[in-house]
Amino acid sequence: MIRLRLRHLVCLLAAVALCGLAPVHAQTYPSRTITLVVPFAAGGPTDVVARTLGAAMARTLGQTVVIENKVGAGGTIASTFVARAAPDGYTFLIHHNGMATAPSLYRKLNFNALTDFEYVSQVVDVPMTLLARKDFGPKTLPELVAYVKANGDKVTMAHAGLGAVSQLCSMVFRQAVGAELTTVPYGGTAPAMNALMGGQVDLLCDQTTQTTQFIKAGSVRFYGVTTSQRIKTMPDAPTLAEQGLKGFEVVVWHGVYAPKGTPKEATEKFGAALKAALKDPGVVARMTDLGVEFVADAKLSPEGLRTWLKQETERYAPLIKAAGVYAD
Ligand code: ASP
Repeated sequence: MIRLRLRHLVCLLAAVALCGLAPVHAQTYPSRTITLVVPFAAGGPTDVVARTLGAAMARTLGQTVVIENKVGAGGTIASTFVARAAPDGYTFLIHHNGMATAPSLYRKLNFNALTDFEYVSQVVDVPMTLLARKDFGPKTLPELVAYVKANGDKVTMAHAGLGAVSQLCSMVFRQAVGAELTTVPYGGTAPAMNALMGGQVDLLCDQTTQTTQFIKAGSVRFYGVTTSQRIKTMPDAPTLAEQGLKGFEVVVWHGVYAPKGTPKEATEKFGAALKAALKDPGVVARMTDLGVEFVADAKLSPEGLRTWLKQETERYAPLIKAAGVYAD
Protein backbone atom coordinates (compact mmCIF):
# COMPACT_ATOMS: atom_id res chain seq x y z
CA MET A 1 0.00 0.00 0.00
CA ILE A 2 2.74 2.40 1.10
CA ARG A 3 4.92 1.36 -1.86
CA LEU A 4 2.06 2.11 -4.24
CA ARG A 5 1.63 5.60 -2.81
CA LEU A 6 5.37 6.21 -3.13
CA ARG A 7 5.24 5.14 -6.75
CA HIS A 8 2.42 7.61 -7.36
CA LEU A 9 4.42 10.34 -5.72
CA VAL A 10 7.43 9.63 -7.92
CA CYS A 11 5.19 9.74 -11.03
CA LEU A 12 3.68 13.01 -9.90
CA LEU A 13 7.10 14.58 -9.29
CA ALA A 14 8.27 13.43 -12.72
CA ALA A 15 5.21 15.00 -14.37
CA VAL A 16 5.78 18.30 -12.57
CA ALA A 17 9.42 18.29 -13.65
CA LEU A 18 8.42 17.63 -17.27
CA CYS A 19 5.87 20.46 -17.15
CA GLY A 20 8.53 22.78 -15.84
CA LEU A 21 10.77 21.96 -18.78
CA ALA A 22 8.07 22.37 -21.46
CA PRO A 23 8.25 25.63 -23.43
CA VAL A 24 5.68 28.21 -22.28
CA HIS A 25 4.12 28.57 -25.76
CA ALA A 26 4.11 24.88 -26.67
CA GLN A 27 0.31 25.07 -27.08
CA THR A 28 -0.38 26.61 -30.47
CA TYR A 29 -2.97 29.32 -31.06
CA PRO A 30 -5.77 29.35 -30.11
CA SER A 31 -5.52 27.80 -26.67
CA ARG A 32 -8.54 29.51 -25.12
CA THR A 33 -11.83 31.28 -25.85
CA ILE A 34 -11.73 34.12 -28.40
CA THR A 35 -13.89 37.23 -28.00
CA LEU A 36 -15.53 38.77 -31.06
CA VAL A 37 -16.77 42.24 -30.18
CA VAL A 38 -20.00 43.44 -31.81
CA PRO A 39 -20.61 47.21 -31.63
CA PHE A 40 -24.42 47.00 -31.47
CA ALA A 41 -27.18 45.37 -29.43
CA ALA A 42 -27.71 41.61 -29.30
CA GLY A 43 -30.28 40.25 -31.73
CA GLY A 44 -29.67 42.99 -34.33
CA PRO A 45 -28.24 42.62 -37.85
CA THR A 46 -24.53 42.89 -37.02
CA ASP A 47 -25.00 40.51 -34.10
CA VAL A 48 -26.79 37.96 -36.31
CA VAL A 49 -23.88 37.93 -38.78
CA ALA A 50 -21.33 37.66 -35.95
CA ARG A 51 -23.13 34.84 -34.13
CA THR A 52 -23.78 32.81 -37.29
CA LEU A 53 -20.11 33.04 -38.30
CA GLY A 54 -18.75 32.71 -34.76
CA ALA A 55 -20.45 29.35 -34.23
CA ALA A 56 -19.02 27.95 -37.48
CA MET A 57 -15.56 29.45 -36.83
CA ALA A 58 -15.42 27.78 -33.42
CA ARG A 59 -15.57 24.39 -35.15
CA THR A 60 -12.47 25.21 -37.23
CA LEU A 61 -10.57 26.91 -34.41
CA GLY A 62 -11.37 24.27 -31.79
CA GLN A 63 -12.20 27.04 -29.33
CA THR A 64 -15.38 28.93 -28.49
CA VAL A 65 -15.90 32.32 -30.12
CA VAL A 66 -17.76 34.41 -27.58
CA ILE A 67 -19.78 37.37 -28.88
CA GLU A 68 -19.52 40.45 -26.70
CA ASN A 69 -21.91 43.33 -27.45
CA LYS A 70 -20.19 46.61 -26.60
CA VAL A 71 -22.96 49.04 -27.39
CA GLY A 72 -22.83 52.81 -27.71
CA ALA A 73 -21.89 55.92 -29.69
CA GLY A 74 -22.69 54.37 -33.08
CA GLY A 75 -20.08 51.64 -32.72
CA THR A 76 -17.18 53.86 -31.64
CA ILE A 77 -17.16 52.51 -28.06
CA ALA A 78 -16.51 49.01 -29.38
CA SER A 79 -13.83 50.25 -31.79
CA THR A 80 -12.07 52.13 -29.00
CA PHE A 81 -12.27 49.06 -26.76
CA VAL A 82 -10.68 46.78 -29.35
CA ALA A 83 -8.04 49.34 -30.38
CA ARG A 84 -6.93 49.35 -26.72
CA ALA A 85 -7.31 45.63 -26.00
CA ALA A 86 -4.28 43.38 -25.47
CA PRO A 87 -2.91 42.38 -28.90
CA ASP A 88 -2.75 38.71 -27.95
CA GLY A 89 -5.01 37.23 -30.61
CA TYR A 90 -7.98 36.73 -28.30
CA THR A 91 -9.95 39.90 -29.07
CA PHE A 92 -11.37 40.77 -32.49
CA LEU A 93 -13.93 43.29 -33.73
CA ILE A 94 -16.56 42.92 -36.42
CA HIS A 95 -17.79 46.25 -37.70
CA HIS A 96 -19.42 47.70 -40.80
CA ASN A 97 -19.35 50.95 -42.83
CA GLY A 98 -19.30 52.77 -39.47
CA MET A 99 -15.54 52.29 -39.40
CA ALA A 100 -15.39 54.54 -42.49
CA THR A 101 -18.03 57.10 -41.48
CA ALA A 102 -17.01 57.65 -37.84
CA PRO A 103 -13.84 59.66 -38.67
CA SER A 104 -16.02 62.24 -40.45
CA LEU A 105 -18.91 62.11 -37.97
CA TYR A 106 -16.88 62.61 -34.78
CA ARG A 107 -14.65 65.60 -34.20
CA LYS A 108 -12.77 63.57 -31.61
CA LEU A 109 -12.25 59.80 -31.74
CA ASN A 110 -10.03 57.81 -29.40
CA PHE A 111 -8.75 55.56 -32.20
CA ASN A 112 -7.56 55.93 -35.76
CA ALA A 113 -9.50 53.54 -37.98
CA LEU A 114 -6.76 53.48 -40.62
CA THR A 115 -3.75 52.87 -38.37
CA ASP A 116 -4.76 51.44 -34.98
CA PHE A 117 -5.76 47.93 -36.06
CA GLU A 118 -4.60 44.78 -37.76
CA TYR A 119 -6.93 44.22 -40.72
CA VAL A 120 -8.14 40.63 -40.97
CA SER A 121 -10.73 40.40 -43.74
CA GLN A 122 -13.91 41.72 -45.25
CA VAL A 123 -16.89 39.52 -44.46
CA VAL A 124 -20.23 39.84 -46.31
CA ASP A 125 -22.40 42.56 -47.83
CA VAL A 126 -25.99 43.14 -46.69
CA PRO A 127 -28.73 45.20 -48.38
CA MET A 128 -30.91 47.57 -46.37
CA THR A 129 -34.65 48.15 -46.45
CA LEU A 130 -36.71 51.26 -45.75
CA LEU A 131 -39.57 50.59 -43.34
CA ALA A 132 -42.31 52.42 -41.43
CA ARG A 133 -44.50 51.35 -38.57
CA LYS A 134 -47.42 49.35 -39.95
CA ASP A 135 -50.04 52.06 -39.46
CA PHE A 136 -47.95 54.96 -40.79
CA GLY A 137 -49.90 57.10 -43.29
CA PRO A 138 -47.85 57.07 -46.54
CA LYS A 139 -48.30 53.75 -48.33
CA THR A 140 -45.79 54.12 -51.19
CA LEU A 141 -42.37 55.71 -51.53
CA PRO A 142 -43.63 58.69 -53.59
CA GLU A 143 -46.29 59.27 -50.89
CA LEU A 144 -43.62 59.03 -48.19
CA VAL A 145 -41.36 61.53 -49.98
CA ALA A 146 -44.23 64.01 -50.33
CA TYR A 147 -45.21 63.50 -46.69
CA VAL A 148 -41.66 64.03 -45.39
CA LYS A 149 -41.31 67.18 -47.52
CA ALA A 150 -44.49 68.59 -46.01
CA ASN A 151 -44.13 67.33 -42.40
CA GLY A 152 -40.40 66.57 -41.97
CA ASP A 153 -40.08 67.93 -38.46
CA LYS A 154 -42.96 65.74 -37.24
CA VAL A 155 -41.60 62.52 -38.78
CA THR A 156 -39.29 60.43 -36.59
CA MET A 157 -36.65 58.03 -37.91
CA ALA A 158 -34.84 55.59 -35.63
CA HIS A 159 -31.18 54.69 -36.03
CA ALA A 160 -28.37 53.06 -34.05
CA GLY A 161 -26.31 56.18 -33.34
CA LEU A 162 -23.84 58.34 -35.27
CA GLY A 163 -21.76 55.83 -37.17
CA ALA A 164 -24.51 53.24 -37.62
CA VAL A 165 -25.53 52.27 -41.13
CA SER A 166 -29.14 53.02 -40.20
CA GLN A 167 -27.94 56.56 -39.48
CA LEU A 168 -26.01 56.63 -42.79
CA CYS A 169 -29.15 55.49 -44.58
CA SER A 170 -31.26 58.15 -42.83
CA MET A 171 -28.71 60.77 -43.90
CA VAL A 172 -28.74 59.60 -47.54
CA PHE A 173 -32.56 59.52 -47.43
CA ARG A 174 -32.79 63.09 -46.10
CA GLN A 175 -30.38 64.28 -48.76
CA ALA A 176 -32.30 62.44 -51.51
CA VAL A 177 -35.65 63.86 -50.37
CA GLY A 178 -34.24 67.30 -49.66
CA ALA A 179 -35.95 67.57 -46.27
CA GLU A 180 -35.04 67.19 -42.63
CA LEU A 181 -36.74 64.86 -40.18
CA THR A 182 -36.24 64.05 -36.53
CA THR A 183 -33.83 61.18 -35.87
CA VAL A 184 -33.92 59.06 -32.70
CA PRO A 185 -30.82 57.05 -31.67
CA TYR A 186 -30.85 53.57 -30.09
CA GLY A 187 -28.06 51.18 -29.03
CA GLY A 188 -28.68 49.03 -32.08
CA THR A 189 -31.43 48.39 -34.55
CA ALA A 190 -32.85 45.49 -32.50
CA PRO A 191 -34.18 48.02 -29.94
CA ALA A 192 -34.93 50.44 -32.81
CA MET A 193 -37.08 47.77 -34.45
CA ASN A 194 -38.91 47.22 -31.15
CA ALA A 195 -39.62 50.95 -31.03
CA LEU A 196 -40.94 50.86 -34.62
CA MET A 197 -43.19 47.88 -33.87
CA GLY A 198 -44.39 49.61 -30.73
CA GLY A 199 -45.30 52.73 -32.70
CA GLN A 200 -42.80 54.96 -30.86
CA VAL A 201 -41.04 55.98 -34.11
CA ASP A 202 -42.23 56.28 -37.71
CA LEU A 203 -39.33 55.13 -39.90
CA LEU A 204 -36.30 52.84 -39.84
CA CYS A 205 -33.78 51.84 -42.48
CA ASP A 206 -32.17 48.54 -41.56
CA GLN A 207 -30.43 45.45 -42.90
CA THR A 208 -32.32 42.50 -44.38
CA THR A 209 -30.63 40.26 -41.80
CA GLN A 210 -33.14 41.65 -39.31
CA THR A 211 -35.98 43.01 -41.43
CA THR A 212 -36.73 40.08 -43.78
CA GLN A 213 -38.84 38.27 -41.16
CA PHE A 214 -40.91 41.39 -40.34
CA ILE A 215 -41.43 42.27 -44.02
CA LYS A 216 -42.52 38.71 -44.84
CA ALA A 217 -44.88 38.65 -41.84
CA GLY A 218 -46.40 41.98 -42.97
CA SER A 219 -45.80 43.55 -39.57
CA VAL A 220 -44.15 46.69 -40.98
CA ARG A 221 -44.76 48.99 -43.95
CA PHE A 222 -42.06 48.34 -46.54
CA TYR A 223 -41.05 50.92 -49.17
CA GLY A 224 -38.14 49.21 -50.94
CA VAL A 225 -34.52 48.11 -50.90
CA THR A 226 -31.49 50.41 -50.79
CA THR A 227 -29.38 48.51 -53.34
CA SER A 228 -28.95 49.63 -56.96
CA GLN A 229 -30.50 46.33 -58.17
CA ARG A 230 -33.40 44.31 -56.79
CA ILE A 231 -32.36 41.50 -54.45
CA LYS A 232 -32.85 37.76 -54.96
CA THR A 233 -34.71 37.10 -51.71
CA MET A 234 -37.35 39.75 -52.45
CA PRO A 235 -37.48 40.01 -56.26
CA ASP A 236 -40.83 41.84 -56.17
CA ALA A 237 -39.51 44.60 -53.90
CA PRO A 238 -38.52 47.69 -55.90
CA THR A 239 -35.34 49.61 -55.19
CA LEU A 240 -35.66 53.14 -53.82
CA ALA A 241 -33.73 54.35 -56.87
CA GLU A 242 -36.19 52.88 -59.35
CA GLN A 243 -39.05 54.62 -57.50
CA GLY A 244 -37.62 58.07 -57.98
CA LEU A 245 -34.77 58.49 -55.49
CA LYS A 246 -32.17 58.58 -58.27
CA GLY A 247 -28.78 57.07 -57.41
CA PHE A 248 -29.90 55.97 -53.93
CA GLU A 249 -27.58 53.19 -52.82
CA VAL A 250 -26.56 52.02 -49.37
CA VAL A 251 -24.95 48.60 -49.03
CA VAL A 252 -23.60 47.38 -45.71
CA TRP A 253 -20.13 45.83 -45.84
CA HIS A 254 -18.30 44.32 -42.87
CA GLY A 255 -14.72 43.97 -41.73
CA VAL A 256 -12.92 42.04 -39.00
CA TYR A 257 -10.21 43.86 -37.06
CA ALA A 258 -7.72 43.05 -34.29
CA PRO A 259 -5.73 45.34 -32.01
CA LYS A 260 -2.54 46.66 -33.61
CA GLY A 261 0.36 44.28 -32.90
CA THR A 262 -1.74 41.10 -32.79
CA PRO A 263 0.52 38.21 -33.93
CA LYS A 264 0.21 37.25 -37.57
CA GLU A 265 -0.39 33.62 -36.57
CA ALA A 266 -3.59 34.72 -34.82
CA THR A 267 -4.93 37.06 -37.51
CA GLU A 268 -4.19 34.49 -40.19
CA LYS A 269 -5.82 31.61 -38.32
CA PHE A 270 -8.86 33.72 -37.45
CA GLY A 271 -9.07 34.89 -41.08
CA ALA A 272 -8.81 31.32 -42.38
CA ALA A 273 -11.57 30.18 -40.00
CA LEU A 274 -13.74 33.08 -41.21
CA LYS A 275 -13.17 32.07 -44.83
CA ALA A 276 -14.09 28.47 -44.00
CA ALA A 277 -17.24 29.63 -42.17
CA LEU A 278 -18.31 31.62 -45.22
CA LYS A 279 -18.21 28.40 -47.27
CA ASP A 280 -20.00 26.29 -44.65
CA PRO A 281 -23.25 25.02 -46.27
CA GLY A 282 -25.33 25.77 -43.14
CA VAL A 283 -23.98 29.32 -42.92
CA VAL A 284 -24.48 29.89 -46.65
CA ALA A 285 -28.09 28.67 -46.49
CA ARG A 286 -29.00 30.76 -43.43
CA MET A 287 -27.32 33.91 -44.71
CA THR A 288 -28.72 33.55 -48.23
CA ASP A 289 -32.24 33.40 -46.77
CA LEU A 290 -31.55 36.69 -44.99
CA GLY A 291 -30.48 38.48 -48.18
CA VAL A 292 -26.73 38.39 -47.46
CA GLU A 293 -24.37 38.72 -50.43
CA PHE A 294 -21.10 36.78 -50.34
CA VAL A 295 -18.11 38.83 -51.51
CA ALA A 296 -15.28 37.88 -53.88
CA ASP A 297 -12.40 35.89 -52.35
CA ALA A 298 -9.97 38.78 -52.98
CA LYS A 299 -11.88 40.84 -50.41
CA LEU A 300 -11.42 38.13 -47.79
CA SER A 301 -7.90 39.30 -46.97
CA PRO A 302 -6.16 41.98 -44.86
CA GLU A 303 -5.34 43.97 -48.00
CA GLY A 304 -8.89 43.61 -49.29
CA LEU A 305 -10.22 45.20 -46.12
CA ARG A 306 -7.55 47.87 -45.70
CA THR A 307 -7.87 49.17 -49.27
CA TRP A 308 -11.66 49.15 -49.11
CA LEU A 309 -11.76 50.94 -45.75
CA LYS A 310 -9.52 53.72 -47.02
CA GLN A 311 -11.57 54.11 -50.19
CA GLU A 312 -14.86 54.22 -48.24
CA THR A 313 -13.50 56.68 -45.68
CA GLU A 314 -12.63 59.05 -48.53
CA ARG A 315 -15.97 58.48 -50.27
CA TYR A 316 -18.09 59.30 -47.20
CA ALA A 317 -16.18 62.38 -46.04
CA PRO A 318 -17.75 64.88 -48.51
CA LEU A 319 -21.21 63.33 -48.12
CA ILE A 320 -21.11 63.74 -44.33
CA LYS A 321 -19.68 67.25 -44.65
CA ALA A 322 -22.56 68.19 -46.93
CA ALA A 323 -25.07 66.71 -44.46
CA GLY A 324 -23.49 68.76 -41.67
CA VAL A 325 -23.95 65.90 -39.18
CA TYR A 326 -21.31 65.45 -36.50
CA ALA A 327 -20.69 64.95 -32.81
CA ASP A 328 -18.15 66.71 -30.63
N1 ASP B 1 -28.19 47.86 -38.09
C1 ASP B 1 -27.42 48.59 -37.17
C2 ASP B 1 -26.82 49.80 -37.78
O1 ASP B 1 -27.63 50.57 -38.12
C3 ASP B 1 -26.56 47.95 -36.25
C4 ASP B 1 -27.11 46.77 -35.53
O2 ASP B 1 -27.89 46.88 -34.59
O3 ASP B 1 -26.66 45.72 -35.92
O4 ASP B 1 -25.65 50.05 -37.83
